[in-house]
Amino acid sequence: MKNAIPKVGIVSLGCAKALVDSERILTRLRAEGYDISGSYDGADVVIVNTCGFLDSARSESLEAIGEAMAENGRVIVTGCLTDEAAIRAIYPDVLSVTGPHQYQQVVEAVHDAVPPVADPMMSLVPPEGLHLTPAHYAYLKISEGCNHRCTFCIIPSIRGDLSSRPAADVLEEAERLAMAGVKELLVISQDTSAYGVDLGYAESRWHGKPVKSRMTELASALGDLGVWVRLHYVYPYPHVDEVIPLMAEGKLLPYLDIPFQHASPRVLKAMRRPADHERLLERIRKWRAICPDLVIRSTFIVGFPGETDEDFEFLLEWLEQAQLDRVGCFKYENVSGAPANDLPDHVDEDVKEDRYNRLMELSRQISHERGQAKMGKTIEVLIDEVDEEGAFGRSWADSPEVDGCVFLSDTDLQPGDIVLAEVEHAEDFDLWGHVVGRPEPRKRRA
Ligand code: SF4
Repeated sequence: MKNAIPKVGIVSLGCAKALVDSERILTRLRAEGYDISGSYDGADVVIVNTCGFLDSARSESLEAIGEAMAENGRVIVTGCLTDEAAIRAIYPDVLSVTGPHQYQQVVEAVHDAVPPVADPMMSLVPPEGLHLTPAHYAYLKISEGCNHRCTFCIIPSIRGDLSSRPAADVLEEAERLAMAGVKELLVISQDTSAYGVDLGYAESRWHGKPVKSRMTELASALGDLGVWVRLHYVYPYPHVDEVIPLMAEGKLLPYLDIPFQHASPRVLKAMRRPADHERLLERIRKWRAICPDLVIRSTFIVGFPGETDEDFEFLLEWLEQAQLDRVGCFKYENVSGAPANDLPDHVDEDVKEDRYNRLMELSRQISHERGQAKMGKTIEVLIDEVDEEGAFGRSWADSPEVDGCVFLSDTDLQPGDIVLAEVEHAEDFDLWGHVVGRPEPRKRRA
């Protein structure tokens, strides 16, 4: 061991859910007296939290393990790339390999590599835990796993069936975060609308009151904490209708991330996902009638095996009608172990590329037009970064990393400030403007 206080480095790959796993591991280690190293060089051991969702993500994870081995040599692998044989075939000397959310095993592997020496009572862990995101926003993971079996996905085989946290447990964490200065909570899971199904929607007590472990009740209680609350990975079950009024009354950000993946009934059937595009369009119209500011983000897969030109045109037409504000798109890739690999009629790469470009162009046009409608309006912006030229942040319409930005000409701001800004210019996914004031602080109602 080269440091008097043992130091652990971490490389966190993949999605926000994996980032939360990394934060939990670091929080445990910090509580045990370990220090966190920002470099390979300064670390006594390096944890690589992998992503194994797509074959390209597996390659990136293997590369990251290789880099950590070359730069440090003492490497603990955890996360969604669970194929230990494949990892050890290339890097036989990694210290251990574990799957996602196996926090205890990772911590034990760190103990084996570098025993803790500090008195845990003396270590400094903030009550809200350690976070890899900026101090003003945090991901809040409400469940693990998934009960669906989409044919392109291996998450249920990696992370298991849905396993929800009791509502009081989630609310306690959310409250600690809010008290520590977090201004925006991003609710994540594999399937947020299924939250609590596995618990039979059991109640737990929060500040003396019973709260059901069900999406609407949890979201409503989170909305009482006086911070922005943004819902991700919502599957369009009927009870999603219940959160729209909460958005209209300002309890939740009027933002829904619903990964539709496709619109063509044929493709959705092959994906083993519900195909009800007509009803969905109708519901989106109703949601917008109740909450006109509602922003809908979604992701789509193009070039799924068997996707024909007609299926793709159907998707474009549906998107045109749905007028989704934010769209991410993936070109279909095989995922080792996924049933979709064995489907017939895989789509040529150049066709996938063409469909990807066309879908993204349509989405850019829709976002651009919807952005134009915001010109001259005054909106709330949460500041992410400030430099000598100005600041940028996000409105209710922008989740970090995946959506657009609001660029402001003002420099006398701090990350984490919430300001009122007038929109002067809108282009593609982004807005430009200047500060005109500060909003009334959101009041905590819990
Ligand atoms: S809903 Fe489908 S794509 Fe999402 S995690 Fe579950 S199985 Fe995978």
